[in-house]
Amino acid sequence: MSKPVSKSISCQDDFDPESLPAEIALNRIIDALEPVSEAERVPPRKALWRVLAEEIVSNINVPSGTNSAMDGYAVFGNDIPENGTAILELAGSSFAGKPFSGTPQPGQAVRIMTGAVMPPGMDTVIMQEHVSVEGERIRIDDATRPGANVRQAGEDIAAGDPVLGKGHRLTPADLGLIASLGTENVLVSRKLRVAFFSTGDELRSVGEELADGQIYDSNRYTLYGMLERLGVESIDMGVIRDDREALRRGFDDAANTADILITSGGVSVGEADYVKEILEQCGSVDFWKVAMKPGRPLAFGQVRGTWFFGLPGNPVSVMVTFYQFVQPALCYLMGMQKIKPQTLKVTCRSNLRKKPGRIEFQRGILDYNDNGEMVVYKTGAQGSGILRSMSQANCFIVLPMDSGSIEAGMSVDVQPFYGIV
Ligand code: AMP
Ligand code: MG
Repeated sequence: MSKPVSKSISCQDDFDPESLPAEIALNRIIDALEPVSEAERVPPRKALWRVLAEEIVSNINVPSGTNSAMDGYAVFGNDIPENGTAILELAGSSFAGKPFSGTPQPGQAVRIMTGAVMPPGMDTVIMQEHVSVEGERIRIDDATRPGANVRQAGEDIAAGDPVLGKGHRLTPADLGLIASLGTENVLVSRKLRVAFFSTGDELRSVGEELADGQIYDSNRYTLYGMLERLGVESIDMGVIRDDREALRRGFDDAANTADILITSGGVSVGEADYVKEILEQCGSVDFWKVAMKPGRPLAFGQVRGTWFFGLPGNPVSVMVTFYQFVQPALCYLMGMQKIKPQTLKVTCRSNLRKKPGRIEFQRGILDYNDNGEMVVYKTGAQGSGILRSMSQANCFIVLPMDSGSIEAGMSVDVQPFYGIV
């Protein structure tokens, strides 16, 4: 997808021959990483959103026995008349959890409830709507196909079937599925420890007074929220001043306690010098100009084995770069198979201004038009410091590098923030 660097640069576009396409930046990050190898056994309820470190294979049939799919009468398929009606003798009942204990004979029927085990030899359930009860006998009609309304043992899962693959992130449905196999615990990759701090002399924390030119640190809150959703252990290291010694101590502490360190701010030209100097002594780092908007400067490296992501300071840039680079990286480290955000194509209802040259992640609102079709429109102003745009949005509108402005009615790619689970 990268543009030839020979393309002439004009004020009509945003091409910068020195900048790195976002896709290449992500590939470089993923290539450098190695998924964690440690895993732990946890019971199903502790496994929600964790990543499987083993394939789950069923030891049992689900359902365990052949059972009725509805309330009605269990019969021998051979007893169903080809035409007209037939009389069968009632032999007893089979309830879920309390099966019929006898051995039914041809010419007999057993009252049966949904989920109850089929009496031996019987292979068909006739819905009660097709039966009239006449004392201890029932009259059936010819409407039911032999074999109907029965759930076979192992129909959902057969013993020996692989059920969930290694690298799968466990959802609520999976917890139920695991429980339905009688599995008491599952092997999941260990929780990642992710430390983060903000940098900047202008930053104050909630609870402190603001002096002239100071602002509250919001990045530690968005980072905390994004990390919570991923189910990692997060370590908030606070605000660190733009000071060489303080930064060095911050990097040092993080390297001692965390698998990953995320910082925000201080990676743009000029400010990056401290970080570069420190990491040249105790680690390694690359500073990239990524061809994206927002979020152009990005640092990636390591400090004594702890992976380091230096995100830009602007609040929207932090979230965009987290979702596009850090989240896929964390998913990869946890051993997940699918790590990239899902994209949908929908019609855009707004005009979007854009110059070719950088991939853009504009903030959008997915909604329905009068015909019930999904459409997207933009939130208001799109500046990288306007955090409200992220708060209002429920998706990113992803405009590829080469794309120019979008007119209402054109189709665009979106990455939804939320699904049903
Ligand atoms: P920097 O990348 O450090 O030059 O910061 C870019 C912009 O983001 C500046 O306007 C900073 O004041 C702002 N900024 C940096 N860190 C934070 C933070 N933690 N919370 C809110 N704004 C921030
Ligand atoms: Mg700064």
